[in-house]
Amino acid sequence: MDSSLKIYNTLTRKKEIFEPLHAPHVGMYVCGPTVYSDVHLGNCRTFTTFDVVARYLRYMGYKVRYVRNITDVGHLVDDVDEGEDKIGKRAKLENLEPMEIVQRYTVGFHLVMQQLNNIAPSIEPTATGHIIEQINVIEKIIAKGYAYEVGGSVYFDVPAYLKKYNYGELSGRVIEELLSNTRELDGQSDKKHPADFALWKAAGAAHIMRWPSPWGEGFPGWHIECSAMSTKYLGKTFDIHGGGMDLQFPHHECEIAQARGAHEDAPVRYWMHANMLTMNGQKMSKSLGNSILPEELFTGSNPLLSQAFSPMTLRFAFLQTHYRSTMDLSNEALKAAQIGYKKLMNGLRNVKVLEKPTEFVAPDEKLIAEIHKICDSIVAGLHDDFNTAIALAGLFNLAKKVSQFQAGQLLTSQLTAETFELMQATYMNITENVLGLCEEKPSIGGMVTHLLKDYAEAKQTKNFEKVDALRHVAKSFGLVFKDMKTGIDWAYDEV
Ligand code: AMP
Ligand code: ZN
Repeated sequence: MDSSLKIYNTLTRKKEIFEPLHAPHVGMYVCGPTVYSDVHLGNCRTFTTFDVVARYLRYMGYKVRYVRNITDVGHLVDDVDEGEDKIGKRAKLENLEPMEIVQRYTVGFHLVMQQLNNIAPSIEPTATGHIIEQINVIEKIIAKGYAYEVGGSVYFDVPAYLKKYNYGELSGRVIEELLSNTRELDGQSDKKHPADFALWKAAGAAHIMRWPSPWGEGFPGWHIECSAMSTKYLGKTFDIHGGGMDLQFPHHECEIAQARGAHEDAPVRYWMHANMLTMNGQKMSKSLGNSILPEELFTGSNPLLSQAFSPMTLRFAFLQTHYRSTMDLSNEALKAAQIGYKKLMNGLRNVKVLEKPTEFVAPDEKLIAEIHKICDSIVAGLHDDFNTAIALAGLFNLAKKVSQFQAGQLLTSQLTAETFELMQATYMNITENVLGLCEEKPSIGGMVTHLLKDYAEAKQTKNFEKVDALRHVAKSFGLVFKDMKTGIDWAYDEV
């Protein structure tokens, strides 16, 4: 089996073998949320994608420093260089301090990340906490001749940059096309060229979020925070930079230009972009008004949803699609994910209790080879640009084998100790540690043991009415009873 991890690099437009700059250390930066509103399911898909990337790299033995920022200033409405700050605008509307808005939505974001079992990043820096670092980078860019100051604002000088570098190398945009598509300067802006972008903006009298700078009171542009914070925590050039596909341009293109403008070096080895979550084929976004909030999904309180779906069902649904494909959210897709998730968890419960034989008396070469092949396919999938869909397909094949072992159709003694351990470790590690899919314990809690005992007694005394009634109770909690040779157990009802 090919044992090298391949990552699709948006910059080179091909899959490349992953070779970290300072193995075993890996530096990874992901653009975090702008905390002026609740994150929606589209945002969640992107953050879950990179959670799995970090998890898998760690599983491979790398020491990952995962930095994901919080944008709490500088992101202007409509993602342009003019207009109000998203957070400032919200603060004004609600008559609150901007930092109250930031705190509210940061706390909400963290809660959702926990519900989805996304591991907290190693560092979560905020833009407002790194104003000095941003000013420093801007000063470097000015000193190199790639930015200019006008009226207290500083703009990146795209035409100057173009003399030496290719602005558009990431997004594939051709500069002529870019320039012809850029809105003409309306006389309000003091940019020299329409393609120039803001590094620092002078704050008008009404602007709430403001800091002193060498150019007067103002606030940073949206793109500069990521350059400043990634360089501070990961160095001038680091391994992986991630974000949603919609950030390729202008945000990430500008990050490359800023880094090269400040210190010549390309900032990132592997650019990774997660594709969009769509609703009826349209990107889920707050501005389009088609966004569903995690809380609405978990409680079923959105008119577009036929029922509630749990956090792990959502996570499973995300992972069933490769991150570079679009994923269209629908009730049908979520229902299928709910069944798939329960199947996977039943397999997990089974594999955990599968007893390792004391003796492996009759090794069956064919069976052993089959199990190795399945385990290899799971790892091969993840090695192939984190293909979680393939990994899940492999886990289902493994789950089938496990249930055959449990039902006595296959015997674990036909394996070798190594194969048995590989099967158990692969299932458990990939499911729980890499894919981050864990059991959502039945809401009935510890009562399930009593229910099982009553059911066993009712069966023994042939009290079929009670047997039926107890089955009904179990079902109402999403469980079924399993009559096995070894006794009675419960499983998640795969509906
Ligand atoms: P924002 O808070 O809007 O800056 O977005 C946070 C992250 O979510 C960014 O990486 C975006 O690219 C990503 N994102 C936004 N909308 C979607 C979507 N519909 N599907 C997937 N990712 C998205
Ligand atoms: Zn960013």
